[in-house]
Amino acid sequence: MITQTERADVVVVGAGPTGLTAAARLAQLGVAHVVVDADVGPTRESRAALLHAATLEILDEVGVAGELIAAGVRVNRIGFCDRGRIIARIGLAGVPSRYQFALGVPQSTTEQVLVARLGALGGSIRRGHQAGKVTAVPEGYLVTGTGPAGAGAARFGISARYVIGCDGAHSIVRSSAGLGFPGSTYPSQFVLADAELRAAPGPDDEARIFTSPHGVVVTGRLPSGNHRVVATVDAGVAVPDPPGRAFLDAILRERGVGQLAAEPGVVVAVPGGPPGRRPVPGRRGVRVRGRRARAQPRRRAGHEHRHRRRLRPGHPARRRADRAGQRGRP
Ligand SMILES: Cc1cc2nc3c(=O)[nH]c(=O)nc-3n(C[C@H](O)[C@H](O)[C@H](O)COP(=O)(O)OP(=O)(O)OC[C@H]3O[C@@H](n4cnc5c(N)ncnc54)[C@H](O)[C@@H]3O)c2cc1C
Repeated sequence: MITQTERADVVVVGAGPTGLTAAARLAQLGVAHVVVDADVGPTRESRAALLHAATLEILDEVGVAGELIAAGVRVNRIGFCDRGRIIARIGLAGVPSRYQFALGVPQSTTEQVLVARLGALGGSIRRGHQAGKVTAVPEGYLVTGTGPAGAGAARFGISARYVIGCDGAHSIVRSSAGLGFPGSTYPSQFVLADAELRAAPGPDDEARIFTSPHGVVVTGRLPSGNHRVVATVDAGVAVPDPPGRAFLDAILRERGVGQLAAEPGVVVAVPGGPPGRRPVPGRRGVRVRGRRARAQPRRRAGHEHRHRRRLRPGHPARRRADRAGQRGRP
């Protein structure tokens, strides 16, 4: 039974990278908010281990980009290999951003840095609080759920003017709002590992994509010196659970990547790729309460607009920025 309903301006459901960033921004702006997360602590896995320039720009707004860059590995280019032989390189120096590189940093570090930043701004996370439902009420929305974890059948209720759903791929905020999650997963399975390799598959500042008739492998160096390895495996192949050293070694050898030096730390197989969705082809946004939400963050268009003079005519970003300018966007 809910004994008391608390009130806040905003409830953030979920304290992964998205929720923590939203909460830190709200704290910076002095907006009263509550963050709830079902889990008892941040992730310990490297998961989304490559941050791109646009993400770094957003993280800079909340004051953590510098710390993350110091903790991470700069990726200055992507190298494409066919059966182990380098065939092309794409440098990131031309990215229209002040961050002309991508950053290899484990998601666990990103979350730790954001948690610390949120704390420094006076915010906190209610761990072990699982939201069950969001209901529309006259004053806004009511988030109800169970928690804190370990407190028997405790339940909580928080009403707010706004609820930000940052509760991941199986979001209850999204389902409570009646929003779908259109898209599809990839047909293949993905094996993800943080692994020590006998020899680096390329320079430390280069992420590599290895193509071969057997499938694709992506490698990138992690700050620990290990490499993040992502390998596609055909849907019909039986992947051991967990996929061990022998299985991963065979994949790396047949695709010209190299060999493991030790039993890999974390190896998981994910059908259809890391949790999320492949967008519906041609779909550029979703409708939220009658307004068309942009697939790209709005500020990105503004950013391109500010930098459009630096972009060559015909560049897709320049065309977008020109169109935005014609529509009178900032
Ligand atoms: C094993 C694995 C490997 C991955 N590898 C990669 C990769 O190689 N590259 C890549 O780009 N991405 C990868 N991802 C995906 C990446 O982790 C996500 O894209 C990223 O975490 C999304 O961040 P988020 O903050 O939106 O959601 P999440 O990180 O999923 O955070 C959601 C948070 O909401 C909380 N939550 C969920 N439901 C509720 C609820 N009802 N009430 C309260 N709290 C709730 C969860 O506890 C969690 O803390 C991987 C994911 C997994 C699981």
